[in-house]
Amino acid sequence: MAANLRARLVGVLAVVGALGILWLAFAWMTGRRTIQTDVHPQALEHISPAAEPERIVVDKRPRNIIVVIADGLGFAHLAAGRAALHGIDGEAVWDSFPIVGWHRSHPAGGLVTDSAAAATALATGHATTPGFVAVNPAGESVETLFERAAARGYRAGVVTDSYVWDATPAAFVTHVNDRDQAAMILQQLASAKLDVLFGELEDVGEGEVPTWSETEAILAERYQLFGPEPVTTEELLAVDAGRQVAAIFEEDQITDLDSRPNLPTLARAALGRIAAIGEPFVLLVESEELDSASHRGDLGRVIRGIEAIETVLADLLEFAERDGDTLVVFTSDHETGALAISTTKGNRTLRAIWGSGNHTAVPVPLMATGPGSELFAGRFTSAQVGQRLIELLRPPASLDDGAEVSADP
Ligand SMILES: [Zn+2]
Repeated sequence: MAANLRARLVGVLAVVGALGILWLAFAWMTGRRTIQTDVHPQALEHISPAAEPERIVVDKRPRNIIVVIADGLGFAHLAAGRAALHGIDGEAVWDSFPIVGWHRSHPAGGLVTDSAAAATALATGHATTPGFVAVNPAGESVETLFERAAARGYRAGVVTDSYVWDATPAAFVTHVNDRDQAAMILQQLASAKLDVLFGELEDVGEGEVPTWSETEAILAERYQLFGPEPVTTEELLAVDAGRQVAAIFEEDQITDLDSRPNLPTLARAALGRIAAIGEPFVLLVESEELDSASHRGDLGRVIRGIEAIETVLADLLEFAERDGDTLVVFTSDHETGALAISTTKGNRTLRAIWGSGNHTAVPVPLMATGPGSELFAGRFTSAQVGQRLIELLRPPASLDDGAEVSADP
């Protein structure tokens, strides 16, 4: 009897083993394998620092520029968001952007970027080394979109669901050789001419990161401070126009639409405050959620992140439509996760296949609407996108009368 049982057990194990080997062979045959090949040696030379800046011709410059960066967003994230939130043929909010393109997110001398180099390219028009924030590969500061805007009388605001000294917002306003220099970034944020600074703090008091009270002391020099207690859009809008306002929250306090506050309520307050001043403005809205979710391979969190981004976009596009003189650019800094989307259960369930737990070298989406948006149709490097944003700022002389400008750089 015992021998009989043992024989059956061995038989079952043999079948299970054979099935396992067959499955592995099938997975290998269907492409889930890593193939290595060399990068063409010239390719790395070509993408190293900036080529000659191209000639950009602008027909009409916008009065206001809003840049929305979804950190880690790739085309598969959009496909997943559309299918989960709107159905396979459903209309997503981003479908109303009339101009679409893509850009290659590589840093100077490499293929895979980090958020510091990627944001530096978008904010300054210069490709740089990973870890560098608005400095070129030689370590020299390069002018940012926000700095040139400030010099020309624009108002400026930053909203992020990440920590305020994170590399993406930092590259639009500050210059450091190391993205982890939190104290230095905070000092520079405090002395920048930002009308609005909304976001979180992270790793408070650890390493180079100042404590809460140190951060408050740095920012209170310039800003009226809110947070970490939840604050409403109305409370933020109630502060006198022209007063610089910062709202700083705890780590992961702003994640999805259930958060109080959340990215859409903060973006609404930022737009309301800055538009009420009545002068031209530049506004950066960053969502970090997709990058974090994709590092962890969490499709549900990706979908919730896209839901929040769509809510932000809907508000911004409604403003741009009404205003008629605002450029909105929606893009990503790099793809995260090598995400592929498939379905199971006869199209009823989305299935995510994560090829990586990190950033990848694939091109990322670029969309635009409003005056000057035609400059973003086609394919670019991230640095070219940044050059175009900067070129769209109005020359100082045109600020008073708001006249149309037709000029070469
Ligand atoms: Zn990342």
